[in-house]
Amino acid sequence: MATKDEQRPLHILFFPFLAPGHLIPMADMAALFAGRGVKCTILTTPVNAAVIRSAVDRANDTSRCTEGVLAIDIATVPFPDVGLPPGVECGPALNSDADREKFFHAIRLLREPFDQFMSENRPDAVVSDSFFDWSVDSAAEHGVPRLAFLGSSMFARACSDSMVRNNALEAVPEDPDALVLHPGLPHRVELRRSQMQDPKKRPDHWTFLQRVNAADQRSYGEVFNSFHELEPDYLEHYTTTLGRRAWLVGPVALASKDVATRGANNGLSPDADGCLRWLDARPAGSVVYVSFGTLSHFSPPELRELARGLDLSGKNFVWVIGGAATDESEWMPDGFPEMMERGERGLIIRGWAPQMLILNHPAVGGFVTHCGWNSTLEAISAGVPMVTWPRFADQFYNEKLVVDLLKTGVGIGSTDYGSKIETTRRVIGGEVIAEAVARVMGNGEDGKAMQKRAKELGEKARSAVEKGGSSYDDVRRLVEELMARRNF
Ligand code: UDP
Repeated sequence: MATKDEQRPLHILFFPFLAPGHLIPMADMAALFAGRGVKCTILTTPVNAAVIRSAVDRANDTSRCTEGVLAIDIATVPFPDVGLPPGVECGPALNSDADREKFFHAIRLLREPFDQFMSENRPDAVVSDSFFDWSVDSAAEHGVPRLAFLGSSMFARACSDSMVRNNALEAVPEDPDALVLHPGLPHRVELRRSQMQDPKKRPDHWTFLQRVNAADQRSYGEVFNSFHELEPDYLEHYTTTLGRRAWLVGPVALASKDVATRGANNGLSPDADGCLRWLDARPAGSVVYVSFGTLSHFSPPELRELARGLDLSGKNFVWVIGGAATDESEWMPDGFPEMMERGERGLIIRGWAPQMLILNHPAVGGFVTHCGWNSTLEAISAGVPMVTWPRFADQFYNEKLVVDLLKTGVGIGSTDYGSKIETTRRVIGGEVIAEAVARVMGNGEDGKAMQKRAKELGEKARSAVEKGGSSYDDVRRLVEELMARRNF
């Protein structure tokens, strides 16, 4: 007979970095584990809790009517007082170097409430963001296994590991167009120098990445929002060549099972229904969806060319401009506001878009994306080919994966690495944008082949999370292993 402790559900603490691109997949992952009978708690601060509240409520609604599914708790702790204005506690709210520095100071100060949670609640395992590099030591002090989660592709993770390990930029001339080879990977991977972060410009960040990499290596293992069939060479490289332990549990956005309603009842997108109705009235595959996540910034000249490009493409479009205050008269080309007013060709979303719902709508036939990993994987899951427009972080690596390895996208020709705080970059012309959209969505041989591959990959993604699929099995393996470890 099982002892009382053996019957107690496994308790996993999820501790995401404070940015939507980290919070959202972590909340989806918690929903996935809760669906397998694991007690899940997400630890975060109040403003960040609001980002995931509706996703968690939705998962908890399912739990009430499904046997064996447990409700997820969100435990909130105050954001440390580091001199940032009240409410500024999430990545997209940071607009200067000084704010970014204070924010990363606050990130280190979160160790205290994390330790307190661990002492008071004694979870069986913690999935903490790689950016909380200190959490590996903290978890070890509490005798709890720490699983790292960075929310990037295995491919990008392997590329940045190669960079950090080999310091390959050192040997490359200062020329921005010089190609930087990433040694030791299953494929020949090269990026232009200008597409990579220059360690000399942000030495603090480079040291931080080295610390993150070292902490991840000292962890119990890593969980990835990916699936075996997507990047098998990099799974093999990660586990065999680098000797790291990895569980691939994604695409986590599919795990909630209600992709069709995800977003529609999301408090963040009050006009999701209006957007859906607009899409319903458009022919299959005729709409290009344009969105650049939560952290990217486009200058007025870039926005003007993008608007021109969408117009020139002749395609219908849904374009997410986001909540940032931009003076549209500064960049909207002549005739564009009138075209928008007529509402025939395009829809602009100025707040939070129900992205999963849009990508999964049959009217959508292409996605112009910054290649944030969540957006990229959401497009892969929906079987939608991409026009890739990376800006910074792991996005240039994700572009390589999509364009060169998966062959389900066309690059726009983005060459300059820079977050919204470092904004100088070459402006890409409207004609180039229109041509890339036409290639991805067109009826040419090239376009059709890309669309077919994207569809096939979407099917594989959906199978991975189904019962008996590779991600489904990785969740089972991990839960069983953690359970056995606890009961040992
Ligand atoms: N997202 C959304 N609506 C928006 C903007 C973003 O649903 O209007 C979601 C998107 O579906 C993805 C996440 O926010 O899950 C953004 O993560 P990603 O890694 O793509 O980009 P980041 O914002 O981290 O650069």
